[in-house]
Amino acid sequence: MKVGVATLETLHGGPPSVDLTYHLPTAKSAIVFSLPLDREIIRRYLGKESIHARAEHEVDNFETTIRCFQLATKIRKHLKNKGFEAREIFTNFNYRDFDIKGIFIPYPDISLKYLAASSGVGSFGWSGVLGIKDFGTAFMLGGLTTSAPLEPTKPIPPEENFCDKCKICVNVCAFRMFDDKEEFQVNLGEETFNYSKRNDVLRCEIVCGGYSGLDKTKKWSTWSPARYEFPKNKEETINTLAKAFRFKPNFLVEGEDGGFKKKNYLKDPDIAQFMKENPNVWRLIKSLKISCGNCQLVCRGNHEETLQNFNLLKNSGVIIRQRNGRTKILHPDEMDEADELHIPQKKTLKEWIAGILIKRALTQEKTIKFSKF
Ligand code: SF4
Ligand code: SF4
Repeated sequence: MKVGVATLETLHGGPPSVDLTYHLPTAKSAIVFSLPLDREIIRRYLGKESIHARAEHEVDNFETTIRCFQLATKIRKHLKNKGFEAREIFTNFNYRDFDIKGIFIPYPDISLKYLAASSGVGSFGWSGVLGIKDFGTAFMLGGLTTSAPLEPTKPIPPEENFCDKCKICVNVCAFRMFDDKEEFQVNLGEETFNYSKRNDVLRCEIVCGGYSGLDKTKKWSTWSPARYEFPKNKEETINTLAKAFRFKPNFLVEGEDGGFKKKNYLKDPDIAQFMKENPNVWRLIKSLKISCGNCQLVCRGNHEETLQNFNLLKNSGVIIRQRNGRTKILHPDEMDEADELHIPQKKTLKEWIAGILIKRALTQEKTIKFSKF
């Protein structure tokens, strides 16, 4: 869809996750590109149109991720034939730290998002997700670092930015991770970029991680049936995560398709090799079930269409787990049943200890500050 080139110079002065040499010591440039997700499938997912709508989106999402890697591999092989070194950047799931802190405040190995903003593949919307005018934010990023000294491409000029600051993305996040007023600033080379301040990344960790699904308004949910009260402050957020961790309920709605078969990743020998070298990435992928992503999926880069997506979500009902253990979609006109339905809260000793450790790790001063990774 779009391609750009970022270099050591255009990324100079940025946060640690734009350090190309961390990813490839000989790197001078990075090639970044985007591949679209299917926006009609996304509409069915947001509106919980059928019990299979999530599986349909999950297949599209994971297959697009695979295509990103395969495209990067082709470019890597081409550059190698020309005598340059190159290394694929895996879309998502690749983080620097995998200690207890790193699991919950993960810092990317290298940030495709910043590379793509710097090179004009997309521009930042209020959510901080990259987007393109008249298309929105429903695409995946892929890329690679290389020792080839390529010519950089320019960022998208402000007058071409797709975002009209409607702030719909703020309200599709069940635990409201994005501030609706304050901005966050990041410098990359000579350019300054802005997007919303994060109220707390742990809010996304809880909701996108599937540990809680009900929106603040209690009128709709993500695809997760898990339930925790909306946390009002930092302390409540940490407590919620410590309580919720490992209480992942049975995600699948009764009768739902299983979604993307993760073993499909390994059919490609280059991806299989990557997973062998990066077992943490493979572990994350294997356990992942998509239940949110709303901030990326709602925005169509056109106010009327974004509003339509928001209305689909608001009227989509909730996923609930009944006392008989069955999980189903409850439509808005049946919602009075929802009060009765909760996730069983039994804890094993191991989970109880894990909760204490998580709380301790997350309340250390240095982990509370969200850096600009
Ligand atoms: S929904 Fe899209 S257009 Fe509206 S504020 Fe968020 S990123 Fe910008
Ligand atoms: S993925 Fe979901 S939980 Fe995470 S920030 Fe986006 S809307 Fe919020």
